[in-house]
Amino acid sequence: MPDHQRRASQPLKANPTSLASGNNMSESVDWDSLTFSLTPTDTMYITTIRADEPWMPGQLQPYGDIPMSPAAGVLNYGQGLFEGMKAYTTSKGRIVCFRPEENARRMQRGADRLKMPPVPESIFVDAVEQVVNANRHWVPPTGKGALYIRPLLMGSGPVLGVAPAPSYTFLIYVTPVGPYFKGGMTAIDLLISDHHHRAAPGGSGGVKAIGNYAPGMKPSKEAKALGFAEVIYLDAETHTCIEEVGAANFFCIKDGTLYTPELTGTILPGITRDSIIQMARHLGHDVVEGKVEATFAMEADEAFCCGTAAVISPIGSITLGETKSTYGDGQPGPITTKLYDALTGVQNETAEDTFGWIHPLPSL
Ligand SMILES: *Cc1c(COP(=O)(O)O)cnc(C)c1O
Repeated sequence: MPDHQRRASQPLKANPTSLASGNNMSESVDWDSLTFSLTPTDTMYITTIRADEPWMPGQLQPYGDIPMSPAAGVLNYGQGLFEGMKAYTTSKGRIVCFRPEENARRMQRGADRLKMPPVPESIFVDAVEQVVNANRHWVPPTGKGALYIRPLLMGSGPVLGVAPAPSYTFLIYVTPVGPYFKGGMTAIDLLISDHHHRAAPGGSGGVKAIGNYAPGMKPSKEAKALGFAEVIYLDAETHTCIEEVGAANFFCIKDGTLYTPELTGTILPGITRDSIIQMARHLGHDVVEGKVEATFAMEADEAFCCGTAAVISPIGSITLGETKSTYGDGQPGPITTKLYDALTGVQNETAEDTFGWIHPLPSL
């Protein structure tokens, strides 16, 4: 039986022996062949409350399937949020996270939007620390990738009418992933979607609601079938301004100034986006958060998209209808490269952490 199936069928109670020792499967991991895919790990974190109770710290238990009512709010009405962040080994040889408090706060804003009880920041960050610590041996060595951390918050109790669920589950699982770029950044070709939008004013595009992502799968697959890496979404109101690239934020650079779509509720406030804005200003660049017309972006000097997974992905070209605009000579632009080096320098602790973004894992 494959290992992940065996572990998935384990009973859902904490096993102190296995938690302490792990199953040591990670000793056989080939760190160089990791991709962005799911490798089951040993231990996950879970806590459940009734809607009228305060959040309580949860427990670690073996990674595996969770029992759930067929009438769970999350299954029937998509009352659920996810987060995404990384723990990794820096050049100093220690395991750190990047700005986990920001993920906690974003999940709180999402909980408010989806009428779920927000998880206190202290419980969120403590849960992240616990689950990373319990899976320490799954954190890749320096430069070989990261432990991807996936918190979930969902209405797990049964509800028939369209209404908030009677109980909620906060869960975190982790999985090792490879470095996004193996052998240098590569520029990607993007297609502007002419039929689909990601989010509408007043909707849920500004939070990491689980229901926001399945509708993007068809446009994304269609673009990939045409040879593009991903789609660019325009705003649903005027269909002229760039909003996001798949599930990543967009920037373009013209005459040394960075331009990125402003956060009006239809754009997901990326933590990488915020870090790049701060870093660019620190390096002396102006940053304009405003409306970014597709026609303006296509005449910019450089463009990139950003998110936790890739940090920064340079854009090589954007296609709108019959028009294809390319940036530079297909190589990442100089300011894009400078920002990538500055941000990954802080993350890897080869540069000073001027902004206090690095969150070392407390030693056991
Ligand atoms: C998660 C996400 C991002 C990137 O956010 P980071 O915090 O930088 O990882 C951007 N856009 C969408 C739609 C997302 O879901």
